[in-house]
Amino acid sequence: MRFRQAAKSYGPVQAVAGIDLDVRRGETVALLGRNGAGKSTTISLLLGLEEPDAGSVRLFGREPGQAVRAGRVGAMLQEGRAVPRITVRELVAFVARTYPAPLPVAEALELAGLTALAGRRIDRLSGGQAQRVRFAVALAGNPELIVLDEPTAALDVEARRAFWESVRGHAGRGNAVLFSTHYLEEADAHADRIVVVDRGRIVADGTGEQLRRAAGGSLVSIDLAGRSTAGLGDLPGVVAVEVRGDRARLRTQDPDATVVALARCGAVRGIEVTAPSLDEAFLTLTRTDPDTVASVERAR
Ligand code: ATP
Repeated sequence: MRFRQAAKSYGPVQAVAGIDLDVRRGETVALLGRNGAGKSTTISLLLGLEEPDAGSVRLFGREPGQAVRAGRVGAMLQEGRAVPRITVRELVAFVARTYPAPLPVAEALELAGLTALAGRRIDRLSGGQAQRVRFAVALAGNPELIVLDEPTAALDVEARRAFWESVRGHAGRGNAVLFSTHYLEEADAHADRIVVVDRGRIVADGTGEQLRRAAGGSLVSIDLAGRSTAGLGDLPGVVAVEVRGDRARLRTQDPDATVVALARCGAVRGIEVTAPSLDEAFLTLTRTDPDTVASVERAR
């Protein structure tokens, strides 16, 4: 799938402000952002539920609506009420019949962990079980891409674990997965790539490790051993220097380059490199100060 400078406004609100994004075959990508960042709107554009005001969105080289109808994309959206009085199997079979090359129903049920509940009425399921039914429905057309909008909101720890196991099963067959989430650990644990969205823009795109680096929060600490701090602030990558007692802490956007430069000047006594947590990186990347975001983007 491919977004090129896609934008969407609702009146004065620019929900998606010109994004470029590709998801390739077999990739699992997390869209991470605060409330109102533009994740759901991005997903609506991707599924053809909304038209972009500018730019383009293509799915498998086609208009999103065509790819959805052909069963190449399955979606699990936030809302969606259960249809009363039919069983899990009946619902999944009904949806599967609307696609040209569906997954066998038993397989969709198995992948979603619903085999034991196949005969249960869907209006008699728990919240977590109903969520699995929505996942099975998303799988029914045997899609190459599944799109999950905050799929684990309201799931308990056990249900969440089981859900991700199901998603991995689907991804393990070479399919792509795009999911939105507020949970950093979830993005880090289950995605190959994390795309951070803020105020309708992509402010970072990479692995958890790359995001930590992009946020520039790595700390390289050394023993000063009587040496002056002069010049430390000018080393490659360094954005700030703090001195605590006999130790200097260098905040850097490129810890490798900083360590190499320190080694060149022999300042490596007691050297320690600490990556920022993903939480810290996320907060830096989505800080409301536009100058910070710009500097993070430049540093990427
Ligand atoms: P959340 O994490 O809260 O679900 P989100 O990242 O999915 O948020 P969106 O739902 O895409 O964010 O919303 C982006 C912005 O667009 C928000 O300011 C929201 O209020 C606005 N918005 C979204 N849908 C509409 C709509 N149908 N009409 C008007 N404004 C909308």
